[in-house]
Amino acid sequence: MANQECIFCKIVAGEVPSDIVYQDESVTAFRDINPQAPVHVLVVPNRHIATLADITAEDELLLGHMLRVATQVAEQEKIHTPDRGYRLVLNYGQDGGLLVHHVHLHVLGGRRMGWPPG
Ligand code: AMP
Ligand code: ZN
Repeated sequence: MANQECIFCKIVAGEVPSDIVYQDESVTAFRDINPQAPVHVLVVPNRHIATLADITAEDELLLGHMLRVATQVAEQEKIHTPDRGYRLVLNYGQDGGLLVHHVHLHVLGGRRMGWPPG
């Protein structure tokens, strides 16, 4: 069920413009509007799930699919190689830096990532 107020639900529905790089019946991947790396794509479930706290056992396949789509996007972006590589990030809560309340997996690459994250 789409959330009327949710920007990512609107992107999934095509009601807000975005640069979609992949979409199927359960997930959508689109470029982050404020990229933190040369490649910065968000993979989201098409169904509104607010945060990681709202994931249930029934979502396990969906979460696994999001991971696989993230690697496919990385392949499309030519960073799915050992000499390039990328980082997958899921934020939660204030310390995690969560801003948008619709679960999203960040795919970040195209530059060397620092560790630990800032
Ligand atoms: P987070 O801090 O994990 O909640 O990340 C939310 C991300 O969503 C940020 O990187 C934002 O730049 C990104 N974002 C917010 N609005 C849009 C939008 N309309 N299109 C694409 N990315 C967005
Ligand atoms: Zn939503």
